[in-house]
Amino acid sequence: MTLDPSRLRPSTRLVHGGVQRTHHGETAEALFLTSGYVYDNAEQAEATFAGTVEHYQYSRFANPTLTMLEERLCLIEGAEACRTTATGMAAVNAALLSHLKAGDRVVASRALFGSCHWIVSTLLPKFGIHSEFVDGADLDQWRAALSRPAQLVLLETPSNPMLELVDLPAVAELAHAAGAIVVVDNVFATPLLQQPLKLGADVVVYSCTKHMDGQGRVLGGAVLASKKWIDDTLQPFIRNTGPALSPFNAWVLLKGIETLALRVDAAGRSAAVIADFLAEQPGVTRVWYPMRADHPQQALAHRQMSGGGTVVTFEVAGGKDGAFQVMNAFQLIAVSNNLGDSKSLATHPATTTHMRIGEQERARLGITDGVIRVSIGLEDTDDLKDDLRQALHRLVPATSRSAAN
Ligand SMILES: *Cc1c(COP(=O)(O)O)cnc(C)c1O
Repeated sequence: MTLDPSRLRPSTRLVHGGVQRTHHGETAEALFLTSGYVYDNAEQAEATFAGTVEHYQYSRFANPTLTMLEERLCLIEGAEACRTTATGMAAVNAALLSHLKAGDRVVASRALFGSCHWIVSTLLPKFGIHSEFVDGADLDQWRAALSRPAQLVLLETPSNPMLELVDLPAVAELAHAAGAIVVVDNVFATPLLQQPLKLGADVVVYSCTKHMDGQGRVLGGAVLASKKWIDDTLQPFIRNTGPALSPFNAWVLLKGIETLALRVDAAGRSAAVIADFLAEQPGVTRVWYPMRADHPQQALAHRQMSGGGTVVTFEVAGGKDGAFQVMNAFQLIAVSNNLGDSKSLATHPATTTHMRIGEQERARLGITDGVIRVSIGLEDTDDLKDDLRQALHRLVPATSRSAAN
């Protein structure tokens, strides 16, 4: 007898969801490393293309390993349909370009991942699609921007790197009244801590590169939405423009997702402890973490998220020099621009991920030169504390010296 997967609890879905065993009865998901498929006869090929028979045609359209991943993602997100893509950016790009046309209007939160910001601010206007940014935390700005018709809203919550939240139900209501669909980049929360479709969003996009792989190996992306939108809007775009995910990478992601709950839970618990620890350290001027009492949107965080996530952002005294001094002193935490890895990674957003947006936009987003983003991994929390403590210790004498000058 087969189980109804929708009745399984989330961590069981992560392990069993979407599995399609072949007649060999393999335990692990099979890797279908094939570009094409053969038919029993010419009639079956004809019926497949006519749509009267279901048969894989070509891996740009669909592939059994990708199907397993897509079904598993649907089960954990509570979505009707999913398509995976080669990267997170391919997912965002496909979600936007498949839905929009010249003359349309997009409203987006300012605090977007750099490449998402570029698509909205630079790429879309080239095709006659108007775009407008608002401060994601300010509902009045959303209200003003959505008092005129719009076709699409794009937002990220919590945002990178300042962990600012957007009130999903409130913005979804305003967006729908303006005629727009709501696309949420849910990378920071993961489907385990926040399910935007249940909060009013229409489309959820992921960079599977982050927590879903979680071990820094492959790139991947996913778009989840209603079956109708995926079939009518997204699938023709993906099928004909070709951002398809490699079956090998899909297989790596399937194995990564099996441990997603364990990893996000462990790293999230550690991140909450690290956030509290950092707040007490000399040389640290501020800490941002969604569930902390000093987060300006703590109540909203509790309403729409079940955990604060795996990223902690903090500011050190001494601006860029201070931040570089601390980062260069890390012995365990690595300097990287990636996140969502089993290894803890530190980023200086002002000079790397958010360098291109310019000083003025960084100031608007609160990304000062002293801000460091740490993606907490799976190391022992006490080892991370030791590393942070010894690195911050370097800073203290230097700051008191400069204060004395
Ligand atoms: C990494 C990331 C992306 C882009 O994903 P890629 O897999 O690198 O293409 C988009 N949005 C957010 C929030 C990200 O962190």
